[in-house]
Amino acid sequence: NVLANQIAAGEVIERPASIIKELVENSLDAHSKRIDIVVTKAGLGELRVIDDGDGIATEDVKEAFKRHATSKISTRQDLFRVQTMGFRGEALPSIASVADVVMTTATGGASGTMIHFHGGELKDFQAAPARRGTDVKVSELFFNTPARLKYLKSPQTELSRMVDIINRLALANPDVAISFTHDGREMFRSAGNGNVQQVIAAIYGVKVGRKMLAIHGADPDFTVDGLVSLPELTRASGQYMTITINHRYVRNYQLTKAIIEGYGSKLMVGRYPVVVVNIDLDPLLVDVNVHPAKREVRLSKEQQLATLISTTIQQKIAQQNL
Ligand code: ADP
Ligand code: MG
Repeated sequence: NVLANQIAAGEVIERPASIIKELVENSLDAHSKRIDIVVTKAGLGELRVIDDGDGIATEDVKEAFKRHATSKISTRQDLFRVQTMGFRGEALPSIASVADVVMTTATGGASGTMIHFHGGELKDFQAAPARRGTDVKVSELFFNTPARLKYLKSPQTELSRMVDIINRLALANPDVAISFTHDGREMFRSAGNGNVQQVIAAIYGVKVGRKMLAIHGADPDFTVDGLVSLPELTRASGQYMTITINHRYVRNYQLTKAIIEGYGSKLMVGRYPVVVVNIDLDPLLVDVNVHPAKREVRLSKEQQLATLISTTIQQKIAQQNL
């Protein structure tokens, strides 16, 4: 149902950056170790994500483009467990309904599969090379939904949103080698060696990378780990703060506030630290299903976690002054 998919696309796919997010999260879910993102014209040319992950078996490829056809929920209980980032089964059909999409995918068997959709219509389905992994090419974005095309901001703005989301994904997944090439120019590359400090240095600069403190805190429900900047290294915007839950990038106002509170009076008003903080918790304590784009999360025991975060940072910073 093309119309239903287009409506769903309105929620999940607002702009080129949302497509990158959905495609890269699919690649991460598929256990990729390497993900290459290649974009032209800030996403209005082509958006391409190539991974070396599990791939999709030929008999499952068409199914993956059906709404709510997720391979990631097998029981009702799973709905409440966020083991993987995508679990709504909406991204691929949504993207395919508002663009031209060519996917080539292979599981490492004898042969792979190519599938082509244009504005939600299946155009082609055939055998393809057997190289393990998935390559998704999206072009003509919003060609059939002109209102949404008009709603896009300038190419520079769309590009910076894309860069922002790629940065977060790379910070949240330091063990995956992620590269981003725009209009033929490599903008970013992470090594995929698990070293968050290196990813921070690659994104925010070598000087920032050198001024980070490692933090660790735990209580019976939560474990907090990460890198937080020395109080002397601050930024005028909170966009350098990345919070991940079980290594998934999220937004949560209370937790952001807790980080800032951890710095106390060390942080001047209107200044923000550079941080990458991961919280490990039982997926039962998080409900990511608040917004289709799955970035704003609701948590049980949020206040308890906020306290753990602020005291962990507070103690680390107090130690620096001894
Ligand atoms: P969801 O991620 O919510 O399950 P999607 O529409 O994003 O829904 O993807 C549908 C299905 O297609 C996934 O459940 C997965 O089985 C498969 N899939 C999508 N992208 C990839 C990929 N890069 N590698 C392997 N499988 C993929
Ligand atoms: Mg998905």
